[in-house]
Amino acid sequence: MKKVGIMGGTFDPIHNGHLVLAEQIRTQFNLEKVIFIPAGIPPHKQELNITSSKHRYFMTLLATITNPHFEVSKIEIAEEKISYTINTIKKLKETFDSNTEMFFITGADALYELETWKNIEELLKLCNFIAATRPGIDEKKLRDKIDYLNKIYNAQIIVTSVPALAISSTDIRERIRHRKSIKYIVPESVEYYIYKNKLYI
Ligand code: ATP
Ligand code: MG
Repeated sequence: MKKVGIMGGTFDPIHNGHLVLAEQIRTQFNLEKVIFIPAGIPPHKQELNITSSKHRYFMTLLATITNPHFEVSKIEIAEEKISYTINTIKKLKETFDSNTEMFFITGADALYELETWKNIEELLKLCNFIAATRPGIDEKKLRDKIDYLNKIYNAQIIVTSVPALAISSTDIRERIRHRKSIKYIVPESVEYYIYKNKLYI
C-alpha cells in the first residue's frame, strides 16, 4: 500500500505550525508524500474576509518548495465554489492507484467541527484521519471526542502529538496589522511575499 497524506487548510497564511505538523506526521506514519490543498471557499469561513486563493496558493507553494515530499494541489482553488472535503477526497482518489491509502491530517481543533462536515460518515470510510494535538487543546477532552467519533461512526481516527507551535494564521494576521514581527513564525519566503503584496495590513 502507498500512503499519502492530505493536508487541507485555508493557509491564510501558511505557517511553520502547518509545516511541522505535516512533516512530523509524514515521518511518523511513513507517508510517501503530503499534498497540501488550499481551500477554495472554506464552508466554515464563508463570512470571513479571506485572502484571494491566488495569494494563498502561492504562499503554500513557496512554503513547501524546499521539501521534496510536499506537493500542492489546486483541486479546490480551481473551482470558485465552496470546497467540501468529501468531494475533494473523492476526486483525488480517482487520480491515485487503487493501492493508495489516504491520510487526512488535521490539528485537533478541526476534530471538534468534524461532525459539521458534509457527509462525514462517508468521508471517514474513504480516508483515514490523523489528528495532532495543538497548543490550547485539552488532551483529555480531545481523546474523549475521538473515542466518541470512533464509536459513533465506526471510524479509526488516530491521535498523535507533534512538537507544539502555538501559532495560528489568525495570530499572524493580527501581528502584521500591529506591525509585529512574524520572522521564524512563517518561512522567510512567505514573510517576503506577504510584505511585497501588502497582505493583512
Ligand atoms: P486560522 O487561525 O485562520 O483558523 P489556522 O492557523 O488554524 O488558521 P488553518 O488553515 O485553519 O490554519 O489550519 C489547517 C490545519 O492545520 C487545521 O487542521 C489546523 O488544526 C492545523 N493547524 C494549524 N496550525 C497548527 C499548529 N500550530 N499546530 C498544529 N496544527 C495546526
Ligand atoms: Mg483554523
